[in-house]
Amino acid sequence: MSAVRRALLGWYRKRRRDLPWRRTRDPYAVWISEAMLQQTRVETVIPYYERFLERFPDVASLATAELDEVLGAWQGLGYYSRARHLRDAARTVMERHGGRLPGDAAALRELPGVGRYTAGAVASIAFDRPEPAVDGNAARVLARLRGIREDVKRPAGMRRLWAEAAALARGPCPGDWNQALMELGATVCTPRAPRCPECPLRRTCDAYRAGDAARLPRMARRPAPRALEAVAALLVRRGRALAVRRPPRGLLGGLWELPGGDLGAREGPARGLRRALRERVGLAAAGLRRVGAVEHAFSHRRLRLHVYRSADVAGRVRLDGFDAHRWLSPSRLAELPHGAPTAKALRLVLGDS
Ligand code: SF4
Repeated sequence: MSAVRRALLGWYRKRRRDLPWRRTRDPYAVWISEAMLQQTRVETVIPYYERFLERFPDVASLATAELDEVLGAWQGLGYYSRARHLRDAARTVMERHGGRLPGDAAALRELPGVGRYTAGAVASIAFDRPEPAVDGNAARVLARLRGIREDVKRPAGMRRLWAEAAALARGPCPGDWNQALMELGATVCTPRAPRCPECPLRRTCDAYRAGDAARLPRMARRPAPRALEAVAALLVRRGRALAVRRPPRGLLGGLWELPGGDLGAREGPARGLRRALRERVGLAAAGLRRVGAVEHAFSHRRLRLHVYRSADVAGRVRLDGFDAHRWLSPSRLAELPHGAPTAKALRLVLGDS
């Protein structure tokens, strides 16, 4: 165990990438970086991380921010529940911990949105606690190094993965150790073509010896994403367009979009749009003109959004399923925090005008 630790820590200290969150041990900054890095590439995260910390430099500034502001700073990073959870967790840290993130992994896990991985990463990197942190990169390295051939998405495989990670995290510099595992997974022990001859762990690696590294880790295939059809319209009245905000929880929660909704089974887009507008915003739109359709892939759903426009809108706004609305100049719609499907719809419908 200690030879493995020495070899990987030595490699990490020489080869690690210089990333902004590696220049600090401020628990708040480490936490923000870990939240951003989930499901997102390092190169994408860097400018977001820097801007976010400039705008919200500490727990107090994040806790007092409006959700719209936080979502605006997150705009384009996706998986927006992470941003909502960060703001909620900052409020909890102010109330329960006097504005300082706790160093204990169990206390960290009580914060909104903080799971086992984030708690382990923050506790080990910012507080030197010997806690494991297993993300996708670390899971791949561990499965190969330790010869874990069970499905790592199933309980038995996952238990083994975390047990191996916990055993290896015990020792000096647990934060560097966890980051070293992830760094090796990101740069050397890559999914399809691991570069074993360059790897500091090859002498003790089970998969290298067995020659099955590229087939590990084993994971059940994800079910195919469910297809979803929806409609949305740019409704313009007296030169102003209507934007509606989704409630804070759920998919794209707290984000703004064009009014519309999901289509029912076998419901045509034009008819579905008229129904959705009547039921969800209380408006009737005449002369609806189809502009086109945009597609977006979420992790479990594949959305096709039919986009329309109308400048002949009657009725008073009554919301059902949204929690706020605004009429504003069409050119300002994109200033409101919005998700990727709305960004695509806006490009289509505003490009069309
Ligand atoms: Fe991964 Fe190969 Fe290194 Fe094993 S020897 S940890 S499979 S890169």
